[in-house]
Amino acid sequence: MVDRVFTNCEVRPLSGDDPASAVAVTNGTVTAVGDPDKLSTAGAETVDCQGGILLPGFVDAHTHLDMVGRRAVEADLAGADGPDDCIGRLLAADDGEGWVLGFGYDESDWDGDLLQAATLDRVSTERPVVAAREDIHTVSVNHAALDALDLPDDSVRTEDGAPTGVLVEEAAEAVFDAIVPDYTQTREYLLAAQEVALSRGITAIHDMVRQSHAPRVYRDLDTEDALSLRVRLNYWVDHLDAIRELGLVTNHGSDRVRTGAIKTYIDGSLGAETARLRDPYADSDSVGEWRTDPEALRELVSAVDDAGLQFAAHAIGDAAIDALLSAVESVDAADERHRVEHAEVLTGDLVERLAASSLVVSAQPNFHRWAASGGLYDERLGERRSLTNRFRDLVDAGAQLAFGSDCMPLSPLYGVQQAVTAPEPGQRLTVDEALRAYTSEAAYAGFDEDRMGTVTPGAAADFAVLSASPWDVPADDISDIPVSLTVSDGDIVFEFGQ
Ligand SMILES: [Zn+2]
Repeated sequence: MVDRVFTNCEVRPLSGDDPASAVAVTNGTVTAVGDPDKLSTAGAETVDCQGGILLPGFVDAHTHLDMVGRRAVEADLAGADGPDDCIGRLLAADDGEGWVLGFGYDESDWDGDLLQAATLDRVSTERPVVAAREDIHTVSVNHAALDALDLPDDSVRTEDGAPTGVLVEEAAEAVFDAIVPDYTQTREYLLAAQEVALSRGITAIHDMVRQSHAPRVYRDLDTEDALSLRVRLNYWVDHLDAIRELGLVTNHGSDRVRTGAIKTYIDGSLGAETARLRDPYADSDSVGEWRTDPEALRELVSAVDDAGLQFAAHAIGDAAIDALLSAVESVDAADERHRVEHAEVLTGDLVERLAASSLVVSAQPNFHRWAASGGLYDERLGERRSLTNRFRDLVDAGAQLAFGSDCMPLSPLYGVQQAVTAPEPGQRLTVDEALRAYTSEAAYAGFDEDRMGTVTPGAAADFAVLSASPWDVPADDISDIPVSLTVSDGDIVFEFGQ
């Protein structure tokens, strides 16, 4: 018997099937898609979708959900227009005890002066106050925090012999070590972030975890029936031994929480000029750095593959992507769906090699925003900026392309808009292709294509209902379309305005 029928909507199954106007759901699973008059739904509860567009729930293949939660719970300093605005936001978010935390300020939004200790003393002179810059490599703290942190003198920036409160590199890392959230705090962050994710139509995530309480929190929430998202845990490589000892392999777990991949970095970032390139950066002699060199990488891929685990490698520069391809080509890895995260700089033969390999390209359409003339890619790469994030080429060559947000920002519709309006016109995807990369293809990256990512009989009843059609609105307005309903296992888990 059908439990629930979703009507008054345009169903876009994203499976290759035609649009329909209703979906029937039984026990959390889609049982029929079609014309409401032809579905036998006697006794079923009706959910009126108010003329919205019903899509499969978004699968975000690359998240750091604790970061989203941190900004939701603590002061969010993104978009602050000056130090006074930051102080106001820090005071408003202060719960009266412990450290006062704020994240995401960008001094280029005002006159360019970093926040200093004397300014942050206005929030508190007794309790430590931290305001992290957007890139998290620079952190500003007040005098109470300087006292509490007890940092080595040479790591603290000074002016006329006095510390400014601006901390970089190791000193900034020491701040993050000092504010690592405990179990209770992590739980608060993840619950807040779950609300954000559901409000954006996301029903499943591939979350990157490293030495945190997040895995335990997700499993506890699952046990308590408090987890509306489906979560794949991609563990940092320093968990590899523990995972092997416990006998965990990829896809072990429950309906809600599963073991995903083992993740590591091959290189750094373009912003910091640490992404590893074949040819030097446009604005220096450097070719970047290895975080894992090619030989260590080959050993690691083979160890992870032998353990029955998926491997996910952060590789941004063309040399790093090349090294990953060579390592994966050297093991017989067809079943494991190993992944390359980011894969931004795709010069030469890399697109063809990616298409020929079993690697899934887990990319971030959000990063197109750096590709404009005069932008970050232009500065760092010069002409090679036209060879970044080549989604059209990847799709045409037959590569597996999955999308994720990297939480910059956590918003599939923002990513879809970026993919459809790519600065390089030859790399634009259609709305269908971009949505599929954020649903069925992201599901494939997590071995979940039979379970989610399309609206078809047998799939989980996980939906995002949009209040306008991404096929009809101007491409530049796609990210503004409100999500009106998010549905997980047939239950409404987010409703716009509620
Ligand atoms: Zn990331």
